[in-house]
Amino acid sequence: MLTFNLEGSTAVITGAGRGIGKAIAEKLAEAGARVALIARTQSQIEQTAAEIEQKYHVEAKAFAADLGDPQQIASLFTNIYNEFGHIDILVNNAGITRDNILLRMKDEDWEQVLDVNLRSVFLCVRAVLKNMMKQRHGKIINIASVVGLAGNAGQANYCASKAGVIGFSKAIAKELASRSINVNVVAPGFIETDMTAALPEQARESILQQIPLKRPGSPLDVANMVAFLASPAADYLTGQVMCVDGGMVM
Ligand code: NAP
Repeated sequence: MLTFNLEGSTAVITGAGRGIGKAIAEKLAEAGARVALIARTQSQIEQTAAEIEQKYHVEAKAFAADLGDPQQIASLFTNIYNEFGHIDILVNNAGITRDNILLRMKDEDWEQVLDVNLRSVFLCVRAVLKNMMKQRHGKIINIASVVGLAGNAGQANYCASKAGVIGFSKAIAKELASRSINVNVVAPGFIETDMTAALPEQARESILQQIPLKRPGSPLDVANMVAFLASPAADYLTGQVMCVDGGMVM
């Protein structure tokens, strides 16, 4: 197994209380990074932070915030900078679904998904930008989804938010390249987490049929890609969308 050395780096991971975000936080901590964990459920991120400190002997701190609220994002990053001094890696992973066919989609289903999945990515990146530009290095990794590339019936809001993350990431990859800031996207396919646990068995079976590697992905499959992108091994990659999907979209 390939391992990366991120000692001396500080990584911020949103949506780190469970699922993919938690696996990413663990993987980056395993590589030696200090980690700042963000989600709304304080008890969950505090527990994850405690587990990480005990297991990997790096500093891990929990910062509870609702990323749907722009004001909370501003104070959140002030607190993280006060605590850690610098941020080298930002992983925008927090995301939600509010699925429905378009005819039945309510305004708030659209707004909540766009606010959490897309606007928060813009606000979190903007919050670290000045410092990253000054320090002339940084890795920004945004978690989208293969449905942001391929679309999916019943998920117009979610697909729009994830396609937005991809376009946003490519634009800022071009803007920030001259400061040695790499911006890449990871687009997971079907990954076993709370988000997908609610799917009916029939829907699950039909998705599995579309995966050439014939299995769902694990949070660790995604975390391995993020660790690579966060490491110096990926210094020559920017503006890319890495699909971690068992071949679902190609
Ligand atoms: P999950 O198990 O539902 O976890 C989502 C995480 O985001 C939780 O820690 C949650 O914590 C946090 N979060 C949600 N809303 C938030 C808010 N307003 N403010 C702060 N934190 C918030 O989801 P997951 O499956 O690990 O998905 C992680 C990312 O991968 C998402 O962006 C998702 O769209 C993407 N993705 C997942 C799959 C998949 O198959 N699972 C596929 C493609 C893409 P709180 O609820 O405590 O805030």
